Amino acid sequence: MSAPGPASVPVSSAIRYCRVALDVPLAGPFDYASNEPVQVGDRVIVPFGRRRLIGVVTQAGVEPNLPPEQIRPIERVLGDVAPLSPKWLALSQFAANYYQRPDGEVMLPALPVPLRRVSSYEGKRAGQQGPVERLRKRQTRQQQSAGESPTAKPLVLTEQQQAAADQIMAAQGFAAYLLFGVTGSGKTQVYLTAAQAVLAKGGRVLFLVPEINLTPQFAQALLLKLGSVVRQEEVAILHSRLADGERLDAWLRAHDGQARIVLGTRLAIFVSMPAIDLIVVDEEHDPSYKQQEGLRYSARDLAVWRARQEHAPVILGSATPSLESWHKAKRGDYRLLQLTERATAAALPTVRLIDTRRLDLNKGLAPQLIDAIGVALSESRQALVYLNRRGYAPVLHCDSCGWVSQCEHCTAYSVVHRAGGNRMRLHCHHCGAQHAAPMSCPTCGDPDLQPMGRGTQRLEEHLAQLFPQARIARIDADSTRRKGSAEDLFEQVHAGEVDILVGTQMVSKGHDFGNLGVVGVVNADAMLFSQDFRAPERLFAQLIQVAGRAGRDGKSGLVMIQTGYPEQPLYQALKRHDYVGFAQSLMVEREMAGLPPFAFQALLTAEATELADALGFLEAARATAIAWLQAHELAELVTLYDAVPLRVVRVARICRAQLLIEASSRVALHRLLRGWLISLGSRHGTGGLRWQLEVDPLEI
Ligand SMILES: [Zn+2]
Ligand SMILES: [Zn+2]
Repeated sequence: MSAPGPASVPVSSAIRYCRVALDVPLAGPFDYASNEPVQVGDRVIVPFGRRRLIGVVTQAGVEPNLPPEQIRPIERVLGDVAPLSPKWLALSQFAANYYQRPDGEVMLPALPVPLRRVSSYEGKRAGQQGPVERLRKRQTRQQQSAGESPTAKPLVLTEQQQAAADQIMAAQGFAAYLLFGVTGSGKTQVYLTAAQAVLAKGGRVLFLVPEINLTPQFAQALLLKLGSVVRQEEVAILHSRLADGERLDAWLRAHDGQARIVLGTRLAIFVSMPAIDLIVVDEEHDPSYKQQEGLRYSARDLAVWRARQEHAPVILGSATPSLESWHKAKRGDYRLLQLTERATAAALPTVRLIDTRRLDLNKGLAPQLIDAIGVALSESRQALVYLNRRGYAPVLHCDSCGWVSQCEHCTAYSVVHRAGGNRMRLHCHHCGAQHAAPMSCPTCGDPDLQPMGRGTQRLEEHLAQLFPQARIARIDADSTRRKGSAEDLFEQVHAGEVDILVGTQMVSKGHDFGNLGVVGVVNADAMLFSQDFRAPERLFAQLIQVAGRAGRDGKSGLVMIQTGYPEQPLYQALKRHDYVGFAQSLMVEREMAGLPPFAFQALLTAEATELADALGFLEAARATAIAWLQAHELAELVTLYDAVPLRVVRVARICRAQLLIEASSRVALHRLLRGWLISLGSRHGTGGLRWQLEVDPLEI
C-alpha cells in the first residue's frame, strides 16, 4: 500500500500494520494495526493479553503475519521523543540475536524507566503530559544554572602517551586499539587527548568505565580536562544508581544530540546517540562490563561492534587486558599500543611474597607486614590492607559439637557481621537472609561460639588493636551502602584523614592514593585454586590493580603478599610485574585445554525446587542438542558437557544446575543455539522450572 506522494500525509481511512518489540519473554515482534502513521523507532502503547505495554516499532507498513481480524490496534503513538534511529535498532537487534533474546528484551530495558512504563502516561498526575514534558517543564522552572565550565587545565603528555594518542587520532574509520599500560602509566591522559581532538571537531564520545570507578570526582576531573572543548550541559552521565528522573534527563540529552560526551557504566553502551566518533572502554578486563542477569551482554564486546557500526575508533585500555583482547591484539585484529613507564617517573612498587607456611601470624597478619605498616605510619605515609572478603568472619563455629552457621535457604555458610557494639549478626551473601547470631550453639547449647577466619570488619578491628593511634577506614560493599558514602570515604583518604585503609576490591581501582607507602594483601590464596578456569586471570588482574596503588607519589612503594604458595607462577609473575609472561603462559594452557579465547562457550542454567528437575531438564536439552548437531553435521565442532549442579547448588530454596556448551567455531555455536533454543520451550516453564542461556559466560 505504498501510495505515491509524501509519506507524512496521514491517510485516516487506511489501516497500516507494523511490528512492535515488547519486553516479554516471547519471540516477537508482534503485529499491530494503526490508523495513524507510525514510524520505525516510534514508541507505542499497545494491548498485550490483558495488559497494556509500551513497545518499540521495528517495522512499519508490513504485510501482517496473521489474519487482519486477529490483529489488535495500537492504542497510542508516543511522540514525546524523536523515534529511535535505525542504527540504534540495529545495535539492539544484533545484541538480541547474539545473546539469544527477543528484540524487545533488549530494547525496552535499555530505555529509561519512565519511557517504557505505561503508568507514566496516564492517571490523574500525568494528565495529558508524559514524563518527558514534565521533566522539561521542571527544568525550565529551575532555570538551569548557567553552565559555567571550570577552567580547563592543558594536558601534558609523556612521549609514550603522545605516541599512543597520535596513532589513535590518525585512525580513519573503524579501528580497535588495545591500550596496554602499566598501572600509573596514565592511560587516561591518552583517552582524554583522543577525546579532546574528537570534541574539538564537534564530534561525540562514548566513554565507558567500570561500575566502581564512576564517582562524581571522576566525572569532575574529566570535565576539568575537557573543559575547553565541551560545556557542562554537553556531558551526560549514565549509570544504574541514578534516580529515574536523572537517568531520563541524561538519556534525553544524549538522544537529542545535546550531549557530546556520554560517560557511563556498562548500560551506557545502549545509549541512543545521533553519532559516535570515539568509544573508550577503560579497564576493559573488568568483570563489571558483563551484565550478570537478564540480557547477559558484554558491554566491552558490544563497544567494538558499535564502533565498527559507527566507523569510529575504539580504545580498550588496561594494565591487565583480558586474554580475549590480548589474543585479538596478538592476532592483529586489534592494534596494540603500549605504555611501559609510569607517568610520574616513579618506579613500579617492589612486590614481596611473604611465605606464611612457617610463620606465626598475629591475627592473620605476618610480622613483616605489621612492621612495614608501622614504618609507613612513622613516615606519615598511608597503608592499605586488601582482603577481598567482607563481613566479620566467614562462618560461626561451635568447638564442642562442630556446628557451623549454615544458611537455612542455601547451601552456603551464613557470614558473621558485627552490627554495632558486640552484637553479631548472620548474613547470607547469597540470598540476603539476615538474623541475630545465636547466643549459644543451637545443637549442643555451648555458649562459646567462635567466628572462624576473618573478613574486612575483623581485620579492621585487629589493625585498631595493633595500631591504636592510627585512623582506620574500611571500604567495602557494607560500609558504602548509602549513596555517596564511598565518595565520602575516598575523599577522607585523599585528604590524608586516614592512615590505614582496609578494603575489598572496591579499593583497587582507579583511585589515586597520593601517599600510599605499603600495600598488604591478605588471603589471596583463596582464589588460587578455584574451579573456574578464569580465576588466575582475574586474581592476577586484581593484585596488579591493588599493587599499582602503591608508590604513585614518586617515593618508593612496597607491596607485601601473604601466601602459602609463593612458588606459584602467578605470584612469581606478579613479583616481576610481568603481565606479558603470565598472559603467554595462560594462553598456552588455554590453547592446550581448548578453552576461550581458543573456543567459544555458552552456558545453559536451569533452576527448580528439586535438583533432579533442573538436572533432568538439562539432560533432556543435551540429548536434543546432540541430535540436532548430528542432523546438521556439526557434532565435531560442538561439545556438550554433562549437566552438573552449581557449586552453591541451592540459593533461596531454589536448586541450580548448568550445562556447558563449547565450540571450536562461533558460527557453529550460534547455529546450534538458534536451532535448539526453540525446542526448550518457555524460559519460565511449568512446575517452577526456569532456564536461561548465557553466551560467552565469564563465570563457570
Ligand atoms: Zn555445639
Ligand atoms: Zn541464603
